[in-house]
Amino acid sequence: MPLRSAAAQPSDATRLRQLRRRLLNWYDRHHRCLPWRPNPQNQKPETKDQKPPTPYHILVSEAMLQQTQVATVVPYFHRFVEAFPTVHALAAADEQAVLRLWQGLGYYRRARHLHAAAQMIVERFGGQVPRTVDELMQLPGVGRYAAGAIASIAYGTRAPILDGNVARVLARWFAIEAPIDATATRHDLWALAEQLVPTQRAGDFNQALMELGALVCTPKSPQCDVCPVASLCDAHQAGRATELPLRSPRRAPKAVTHHVAAIEKRGRYVFEQRGPDSLWAHLWQLPTCEILGDERLADWARARLGLHVEPRGEPFTFTHATTHRAIAFVVQPMRATGGRLRPNVAVWRKLSALDDLPLANPQRRAVAWLREQS
Ligand code: SF4
Repeated sequence: MPLRSAAAQPSDATRLRQLRRRLLNWYDRHHRCLPWRPNPQNQKPETKDQKPPTPYHILVSEAMLQQTQVATVVPYFHRFVEAFPTVHALAAADEQAVLRLWQGLGYYRRARHLHAAAQMIVERFGGQVPRTVDELMQLPGVGRYAAGAIASIAYGTRAPILDGNVARVLARWFAIEAPIDATATRHDLWALAEQLVPTQRAGDFNQALMELGALVCTPKSPQCDVCPVASLCDAHQAGRATELPLRSPRRAPKAVTHHVAAIEKRGRYVFEQRGPDSLWAHLWQLPTCEILGDERLADWARARLGLHVEPRGEPFTFTHATTHRAIAFVVQPMRATGGRLRPNVAVWRKLSALDDLPLANPQRRAVAWLREQS
């Protein structure tokens, strides 16, 4: 089997036409009904009352679906669009209210970007989600993939998409043997995606590609025996479906430790808000020290919060993985023995009264453990 790069792929018009047709036929019969997904263009609504999703719904769903599975997103999407049914409602919302509805979904920067995007849409685009890829890419947090998805799904604009899912499918269709995360390969894959996307039904086609990657051409166990394009797929024909795509060797995630001071006094705990430029920016947490060095946690807490504290009991430890870090959390229960909490630094809260303080997942885990102990 000769090594092939994306750039070397033939743009055989007949084959591309067959790929499009088979994929769209399969999508018409097998697509999942999702709350943000329009019916395929050639299908009527299932009921008279069924309202098609708006471009705003598609914008919200694309923000939520980045790095997150469909099943996880569905309940968040319902709650979010119920609280903020229009782009104007979201633009006018308080950021903490937006983060609260995002709580548990992770990657909170997406929520802040979506909020800022809604404000820009209201201020600069007259309250209408833009139609073109170039305009969409002016919105915070909207890259080329999301712009292509929104433009094609919401407006039928002929725009390609490429994310990890689509890259995997294309790498298999065309037996691409260059690492799909390499810059040159990404460039070539974008060109292939551009060639493939049809003028008619561009949104359905893009969703069909994503759906095939999610349901059939999955990373570890592609189901070639039920795949609608198996006879056109180079990797399958060569018996190499599970070997492709290739990736560059990954760097090991950086191991770091977050020391969490769970400081209690008369049934209340100290909570602080994270800064704007950090991981989990603007979310709340039990006071957490990311670089302790030789300092004792009690000394760090006194210097930061103005409280005298002492440990009580054994710490609770767990790990949390982010894209680039393996974080060991060490949650040390402590009691406040004196001093006064510095104003404007942190607040005292009962663990049962945290609804207005959005917490990132590892902090929620720490709080759940503290609740079990009390
Ligand atoms: Fe993926 Fe197999 Fe279908 Fe090719 S035939 S697209 S490898 S599921």
